Amino acid sequence: MEHSNTMDMESYDLIILVYLRQLIYGTMVLFDRTLVYDASRCSVKSSLHLLLGRRQLVIRMDREIHRIVGDWLKWLYRDVTERLQANDFSTLPEVHACTAGLKSLTTSVTADGIEECRKLCGGHGYLCSSGLPELFAVYVPACTYEGDNVVLLLQVARILMKTVAQLGSAKQPVGTMAYMGRAEHLMQCRCSVQNAEDWSNPSVVMEAFEARSLRMSVACAKSLSKFSNTEEGFLDLSADLAGAAVAHCQLIVVSKFIEKLQQEIPGNGVKQQLRALCGIYALSNLRKHLGDFLSTGCITPKQASHANDLLRSLFSQIRPNAIALVDAFGYTDHFLGSALGRYDGNVYPKLYEEAWKDPLNETVVLDGYQEYIRPMLKQQLRTSRL
Ligand SMILES: Cc1cc2nc3c(=O)[nH]c(=O)nc-3n(C[C@H](O)[C@H](O)[C@H](O)COP(=O)(O)OP(=O)(O)OC[C@H]3O[C@@H](n4cnc5c(N)ncnc54)[C@H](O)[C@@H]3O)c2cc1C
Repeated sequence: MEHSNTMDMESYDLIILVYLRQLIYGTMVLFDRTLVYDASRCSVKSSLHLLLGRRQLVIRMDREIHRIVGDWLKWLYRDVTERLQANDFSTLPEVHACTAGLKSLTTSVTADGIEECRKLCGGHGYLCSSGLPELFAVYVPACTYEGDNVVLLLQVARILMKTVAQLGSAKQPVGTMAYMGRAEHLMQCRCSVQNAEDWSNPSVVMEAFEARSLRMSVACAKSLSKFSNTEEGFLDLSADLAGAAVAHCQLIVVSKFIEKLQQEIPGNGVKQQLRALCGIYALSNLRKHLGDFLSTGCITPKQASHANDLLRSLFSQIRPNAIALVDAFGYTDHFLGSALGRYDGNVYPKLYEEAWKDPLNETVVLDGYQEYIRPMLKQQLRTSRL
């Protein structure tokens, strides 16, 4: 950039700062988008282990969802880059909230998902030949690098608090925060669900997630306003603020999934399956964070029970296709590197074969047994009082 003679040093520094911010934000958006895609790849690895290894009947659909969100982030990155080139910084805070929040959410969900799959495979999941211990060890640092996940959530929360503070002013929230502009309605709306089937209506699901997110943010903003020192308030309320950020990020994911389903999706019956997965994603999150939905008055206990009923029936609907759905991602056995996640399902012969590769199994009797262990056992037998 040219440094004009008429420009004083302060303005110059300011412009340099703005350009640095542009560079940093742009790079962060790119990295975070890549991490969301990575989360999608690792989720499918763990799904395959889970489904093919033990024929478990719960499907982890995180992979498909993370891919949809990753595609959308790709668009967001292009959009913000074009805007920055035109010196338009208006969407930066919102873009930063999306990328930071989605990096945090998707990497945490994926790391937890891999560990959940390991546990679901029982002792087999603990074996190196299952591939799950290595997958976890390689993946879990993603929760720390490119920004610790809690710290990123707190950054999202700061943007949410700023947006809440601006409600009612001329500055309207944009993009994924636009729902906050309907604060008056969302603060007092009542969920209309009367039976389980009502939860299959996407607008009912969206409204419940929007109301929960907004009410949590508004509650944080109210608590924050009681502090004379805002920074102290942020520290004191960090757990609530992180919760509000998670609620906002989950809303983004649910809304992007629902938006995708409104588009043309090729393949006979594909949309129907994705619709069921979308319902499972939304309602399982609703069940997991039921405390948020109930304490903010977004739904009643009876409506929560209806959501659970529909979730159960969606599980039954998806169960016969669970393995085929995971196979549809087309990852090879080589990519998975797991005795449990094999396409042919020959898990036990493969586990047996892998066990032979362990150096401990090179000899029938363990090295050192005759020299050390046997004499010790013999002596113990002689001295034992039992
Ligand atoms: C495998 C790996 C590769 C890496 N590669 C690189 C690299 O190539 N280049 C590079 O520059 N860096 C790299 N890093 C460093 C990485 O970016 C940092 O570790 C990361 O940003 C977290 O910072 P920190 O380690 O200082 O942890 P801290 O920020 O100190 O966090 C430690 C703990 O304190 C909590 N915490 C921190 N602040 C708050 C707060 N305000 N409120 C509540 N809780 C808080 C966090 O949640 C966390 O639990 C890498 C790290 C790892 C693990």
